Amino acid sequence: MFKHIDETGYTNDLACYLKHGGYAELKKALTLEPQFIKDEVKKSQLRGRGGAGFGCGVKWGFIDAKKTTKPIYLICNADESEPGTFKDRQIIHQDPHQLIEGMIISCFANSVHLAYIYIRGEFPEGARILERAISEAKARNFLGKNILGTGYDLEIYVHRGAGAYICGEETGLIESIEGKRPYPRIKPPYFPAVLGLYQCPTIVNNVETLCNVKHIVSMGGEAYAKIGRPNNTGTRLIGVSGDVKKPGYYEFECGALTLGELIYDVCGGIRNDNKLKAVIPGGSSSKVLRADGRFKLKDKEIGLNDIPMDFDSFAAIGTMSGSGGVIVMDDTRDLVACLANLSEFYAHESCGQCTPCREGSQWMKKILRRMTGGDARATDPALLKSVADNIAGRTVCAFGEACAWPVQSFLAAFRDEFEAKAK
Ligand code: SF4
Repeated sequence: MFKHIDETGYTNDLACYLKHGGYAELKKALTLEPQFIKDEVKKSQLRGRGGAGFGCGVKWGFIDAKKTTKPIYLICNADESEPGTFKDRQIIHQDPHQLIEGMIISCFANSVHLAYIYIRGEFPEGARILERAISEAKARNFLGKNILGTGYDLEIYVHRGAGAYICGEETGLIESIEGKRPYPRIKPPYFPAVLGLYQCPTIVNNVETLCNVKHIVSMGGEAYAKIGRPNNTGTRLIGVSGDVKKPGYYEFECGALTLGELIYDVCGGIRNDNKLKAVIPGGSSSKVLRADGRFKLKDKEIGLNDIPMDFDSFAAIGTMSGSGGVIVMDDTRDLVACLANLSEFYAHESCGQCTPCREGSQWMKKILRRMTGGDARATDPALLKSVADNIAGRTVCAFGEACAWPVQSFLAAFRDEFEAKAK
């Protein structure tokens, strides 16, 4: 039950994980000083794989167990709801023990004794797989009381969301675990490291991020930092969807491939040998890129195909590699219709707490519906831009940017298509 067997006979149960050396890093970690593990994670330059790309070691550094009398919590963010993103789900389904082991080591390093995996409601099988993996780990005393005789106690619980995108926002997620409506909290003062779950210091890390921790323990932070590029270290799981011949998820060293190599060499090129028109590089909220665009990177002007697949390169050209979801669109696509589709999603998922986002996301949806339905007004492109400009930067959480950036960037890159509909 809930077992996945691949062509090499690899399954997602504990027996198979142990056969491949599983939990060896946990045994090693439990012999180390927690602070030593934190230092190694910092040295590794591991960046969060959930979207923001914030340094994992830096985040952990905000918490000092010696300076608080409150319990410290760790939450694994498995809400993965960003359109175009589907890599954490693969880890959960195919390698749940890698996540559990990474979590236990991370909890040990940060003096955490109670942790949660917050998984989106639409992943029922993933939740069952994780429950089973936790039971298996407990049965072997990798979890629970006095783990492997070291005196360290840890419990991990799976908490299922009810299916809201905003629960992927860390403070909305925390509200949800507390049993409340997931309204994101205002920062400051509600930084999770200070006032997180139950007002206690809390670390929120993404699934893929936590999986990396066991590999850092295995090889050491400095060796890990040599994988990829400086400040863009390690490997990344990238999910490619849309108009390519071989959509799927792929793992490679950060920056080892360019976007063009990913699309043409790894994913077999554009379906039906159509022409590439546009790419959303890091989940639907990242800014869209034109296939024929020119981008400034370190004093060089490069084309779309030459952009290295790493955090800093995408940030330098004004977008982001975000959650690792690459959405490819070919020249048969109506970009206004593509944006209308995204806007429907964001209008549906706004939590409604702040007015610019609640009202503005609905207005953008309605304008785009009008444009795709043949009723566009001449003023619609300008009106759309004005609405988006008045959301970004004016809201409680980053959802405001997430729903405004696609509109702003589609308009900036493909204004001609919007104007053509508005005549
Ligand atoms: Fe809610 Fe949107 Fe405000 Fe975030 S920006 S708190 S999603 S209304």
